[in-house]
Amino acid sequence: MIAEVIVDVAAYPIDRPFDYAVPYNMQEVIECGVRVKVPFGPRKVLGYVVQLKMETDLDESKLKPIDELIDLEPVLSNELLKLSKIVARETLAYEIDALQVMLPAAMRGKYEKFIEVEELSEIENPALVSLLKGRTRMPLKQVTDPALLKIIKEYAKEGIITVDTAISQRTKVKTVRMIHIANAEKLQAIDETIHANAKKQKELLEWLKGHANETIVVATVLRESSIQAPVLKALIKKGAAIESSVETYREPDAPKLRDTEVPLNLTDEQRSALDLVNKSSDNNTPETFLLHGITGSGKTEVYLQAISHVLKKGKEAIVLVPEISLTPQMTSRFQQRFGSLVAVMHSGLSAGEKYDEWRKIHRKEVKVVVGARSAIFAPFENIGIIILDEEHESTYKQEDNPRYHARDVAIWRSEYFNCPVILGSATPSLESYARASKGVYTLLELSKRAKNQELPSVTVVDMREELKDGNRSMFSVPLAEAVRIRLEKKEQIVLFLNKRGFSSFVLCRDCGTVVQCPNCDISLTYHRSNESLKCHYCGHEEVVPLKCPECESEHIRFFGTGTQKAEEEIAKLFPAARVLRMDVDTTRQKGSHERILRKFSEGGADILLGTQMIAKGLDFPNITLVGVLAADTTLHLADFRAAEKTFQLMTQVSGRAGRHELAGEVFIQTYTPEHYAIELAKTQHYEPFYNMEMGTRKQYGYPPFFYITLIQFSHEDLMKVIDYADKGATFIKNSLSPETFIIGPASAAISRVNNRYRYQCLIKYKKEPKLIETLQQLIKMYRTSWMKDGLLMSVDVDPSSIF
Ligand code: ADP
Ligand code: ZN
Ligand code: ZN
Repeated sequence: MIAEVIVDVAAYPIDRPFDYAVPYNMQEVIECGVRVKVPFGPRKVLGYVVQLKMETDLDESKLKPIDELIDLEPVLSNELLKLSKIVARETLAYEIDALQVMLPAAMRGKYEKFIEVEELSEIENPALVSLLKGRTRMPLKQVTDPALLKIIKEYAKEGIITVDTAISQRTKVKTVRMIHIANAEKLQAIDETIHANAKKQKELLEWLKGHANETIVVATVLRESSIQAPVLKALIKKGAAIESSVETYREPDAPKLRDTEVPLNLTDEQRSALDLVNKSSDNNTPETFLLHGITGSGKTEVYLQAISHVLKKGKEAIVLVPEISLTPQMTSRFQQRFGSLVAVMHSGLSAGEKYDEWRKIHRKEVKVVVGARSAIFAPFENIGIIILDEEHESTYKQEDNPRYHARDVAIWRSEYFNCPVILGSATPSLESYARASKGVYTLLELSKRAKNQELPSVTVVDMREELKDGNRSMFSVPLAEAVRIRLEKKEQIVLFLNKRGFSSFVLCRDCGTVVQCPNCDISLTYHRSNESLKCHYCGHEEVVPLKCPECESEHIRFFGTGTQKAEEEIAKLFPAARVLRMDVDTTRQKGSHERILRKFSEGGADILLGTQMIAKGLDFPNITLVGVLAADTTLHLADFRAAEKTFQLMTQVSGRAGRHELAGEVFIQTYTPEHYAIELAKTQHYEPFYNMEMGTRKQYGYPPFFYITLIQFSHEDLMKVIDYADKGATFIKNSLSPETFIIGPASAAISRVNNRYRYQCLIKYKKEPKLIETLQQLIKMYRTSWMKDGLLMSVDVDPSSIF
């Protein structure tokens, strides 16, 4: 028997399975999807069995045998193995990366060298004897003395010692020690054998008699009896109890389960949406729904009831939410409805906790998983529905290899399991809405708020007017006044300072003009070093103007603001206000995100100031004012999705105010109030925005009218990176059809990172059957030669941002 194995060696230029002989004793137990330890060159590595067969084209006598089976049960189902092939192909990643991304990090291999001694008496070196302490097996890293290493090497030559690599999981299954206590007669018999002087043993025995025939955790026994472990050990030896290890889970502060909550009575809109989804799940059709519902329209209730429907049929459900909105508030809604059938997977869990949640799914102990992006690979085998909430979020796209989009994976899995997918959003991505308009997805609309609350009133403040009136502060007069009133009424305020991604542009304070690329309709990026403006799509370059090209004002300069500066200004304007800041700097620690939110929800602060992190998930009754300090930072991102991202953010931020009894008010400050993304966010009307934005995308040839692939190059040497970027672009140009556009190469928006110069090139295409093959060839050139010259290259099909 022969096994095809994908080995854990990602830097290797050849990406394919290798054949290994299956030793006779493994043939009965080996299955596809198990992990194995195999020799690879001089090393031992972890591998995944992807195929078992009886024949090979290679010389069978030269096949190396599998060393060890790491799993008896497959950790990857046939479906996931198939999926890994698709993911690897579509995202141009190594197959090993596509396999590993499906498993929790804890299961990736941990390599450790061991020395093994066949016969201890053959070791004569006293230093080694004392280090071994009678063991026949010892981690090599415990040998720190180089002289001893040399001796070990000599023993190895003589065959007395073997050096071997052990591959284990990074995180082990957690176990707890338990004892099963003997029956009363047995305990009594033991009691009679114990001398009266052994007071502690007598004492513990009395305690045990009170728990005869019970099974109790050792730690509990010691705590409750107040007796030390050696005493218990002595009694176990005498037969008073049997000790064993039992597998257990690490419980991430599990919220106390309340009584399972009952479903709400649906509104008419919710009812008709749910009916369509349920019908498709009853018919076993792999249909994709776009659930477009304004904030507060009750999308989550539709998800919950659609899940109930498939659970009744014995099937499973995957729910994805963006990492940021994976708040206890959100997950507890699922836990309240489905109790212990829910597993939660988010990045706040430790590796061990993630592994435990994975095991619950793998063993079918849960039926619903709520998690961030990677939960899309949950090892269910009878999926009945997949849901992506806030489907427009860019966090659904993984930024390193494999660069998959959870939406694509969801749709692929739904086709395998013949089940529906729901993509939900108040502001769908243009791509999804376009597909829904064309009938590729089924559109479901929720146009009213579930509890009939008013949408908050939105005021757009023109910062140009503020400047004219002599106000140079970050706070306009109306926003400052609104804050003051809330502070007086003891209501809460959220201030939002968007600093998403990378934005560095030049803005005219008098008219709001930002200099755009004449070819690409994106903002030019400001480069301080030579006071220039560059387009990082096409390479266009010009000097920073001294006067605004529109109004000739001299108030045209670099635009930037930080949360820290905003905090200082708040302290000046409202010295008595209690402020909580939430940005990357204050949320580095595990759990700090939740801590800040909890403090705010308990009334521990008046103002929550933060970046896009706070745009989602917040649902507190006392928030009545939301202020956006500078909408321009997103609006002028050097990205063709700038307008879309602005509209999404403004809509989401506005959705935070007045979700409950108190009416909400929203202020958006900007230098370009006339921009359609801002005007339309004011009324939260998605469709007119969609129509406007589609017009621009069509005119400049961006998605969804064209597909885009981004290729990035980086090198320490500027001349080399330019050279390779040119070579790459020329190769692609010559291989693809003439209707496809190659834009660039040009310097990236962030032109240098860690002393490496960055260049990039965009491919724009409508139909390009040769795309994948061409990119595979490009990658092959890179892996077999360019990489050795210090180049780093990445290929991103359908990138979520272009920096
Ligand atoms: P969305 O996810 O669309 O923003 P939510 O699901 O958070 O909206 O719902 C907003 C609020 O409306 C929640 O407090 C929810 O409990 C409530 N809600 C949803 N559906 C109903 C319903 N049918 N009847 C009463 N309240 C509802
Ligand atoms: Zn101007
Ligand atoms: Zn350009």
